[in-house]
Amino acid sequence: TSLALFFRARRERLATHDHFEPRPIELRSDEVLSGVTGLIGNTPLIRINSLSDALGVEILGKAEFLNPGGSVKDRVALRMIDDAETVGLLHPHTGSRIFEGTVGSTGISIATIARARGYDVTIIMPDDVAEEKVKALHALGADVERVRPTSIVDKKQVSSFFLLICRHLHFFFSNVARQRAIDFGKHSSFDKPHVLQAPPSMIVSTTGDEEKPEDLMDKPRGFFADQFENRSNHDAHYDGTGPEIWRQTSGSVNAFVSGAGTGGTVAGTGRFLKSMNEDIIVVISDPEGSGLYNKIKHGVMFDYKESEGTKRRHQVDTVVEGIGINRLTDNISLALPIIDDAFRITDAEAVAMSRYLVQHDGLFLGSSSACNLFACIKLARKMGWQKGQTIVTILCDSGNRHYSKFWNDEYLKKTGIPVNPGLVTELL
Ligand code: PMP
Repeated sequence: TSLALFFRARRERLATHDHFEPRPIELRSDEVLSGVTGLIGNTPLIRINSLSDALGVEILGKAEFLNPGGSVKDRVALRMIDDAETVGLLHPHTGSRIFEGTVGSTGISIATIARARGYDVTIIMPDDVAEEKVKALHALGADVERVRPTSIVDKKQVSSFFLLICRHLHFFFSNVARQRAIDFGKHSSFDKPHVLQAPPSMIVSTTGDEEKPEDLMDKPRGFFADQFENRSNHDAHYDGTGPEIWRQTSGSVNAFVSGAGTGGTVAGTGRFLKSMNEDIIVVISDPEGSGLYNKIKHGVMFDYKESEGTKRRHQVDTVVEGIGINRLTDNISLALPIIDDAFRITDAEAVAMSRYLVQHDGLFLGSSSACNLFACIKLARKMGWQKGQTIVTILCDSGNRHYSKFWNDEYLKKTGIPVNPGLVTELL
């Protein structure tokens, strides 16, 4: 039969080779790394072949989904915990507890590292976040407090008043997390809220008194990580993501495209890249319902006129999770002076990009990565760029964090979001 002939031909072909040439192996790291945190950062930069070939512009994505906690937020969680330990706000294996208000990725990253350092974790999150994130947090042993945001009690009744509440959602979760941290122990980081914002060299003493390990043992400590306002978030990217991109491209970058959830990625990476070459353009990809696009284009965070009477959804029920900002956090404030442009990406465009990438590149990505890549092609088209230009963006997490919403065609149909990869091909 043809199968037998195929195997015989294959055997003969193999027999003619004396030996196989070993293929060169490229390791992500040559060293033996220390535990799970050793896997964080130093992610590869990959060429998105379908988009780069079609546009002529090199579109490169930083594969942050390869971090052990599955997202770019591992870098931030590690840096926040390391900095808190350095200044004495956290003490490994002494009953300390980390609190954070988050829609998921940061919580998973914190829980991953906390397990390795002997901390307990409480994550406060809205109750409409994709269920797989809650399952991951439970598997990692985190306590999850799910809070019903007032803003989504009845989506049909969303008025501009409700939208106003939505816009303070992050603030709401931060406050709940902050209160829990304070309740947990009077040694919460809020005894000294600004200590983490000073560069380590400026921190002389955090408490004033000497503390012995045995004192620490019977003192439960609550530390509110506060990724939105915590400068360590920016620093993780300024010292990590930015220099890595610079090295991986040998400085040959024309633009950096990023979404913003806390603003840490764009602030840290963008500021580093600009410090190396001020001609690098920093561009925001902003999902529907976020105020950042308006802030950059028109100088105001919110555009009430635009939201009233339209079907635009807010971040709480958009299918794009993790990016979108409606208040000026410390981290995004750091980025504002260096942001050159912004694109608003619709849910339909993000969904289209994600399906296109699976079909053409075998890349199964999350919603914010898809937003970023759609913004890359809009930027290349707007600038009229062709060969010789390079755009770098962040592939924040993988599609496996998004089965129940973004990657659920049934859900998308119900919410009226088309699944049409043609939206990408039109622009190529
Ligand atoms: N993508 C995903 C999936 C995220 O969870 C986040 C963080 N919320 C971001 C992108 C945005 O990163 P940043 O907080 O640094 O703005």
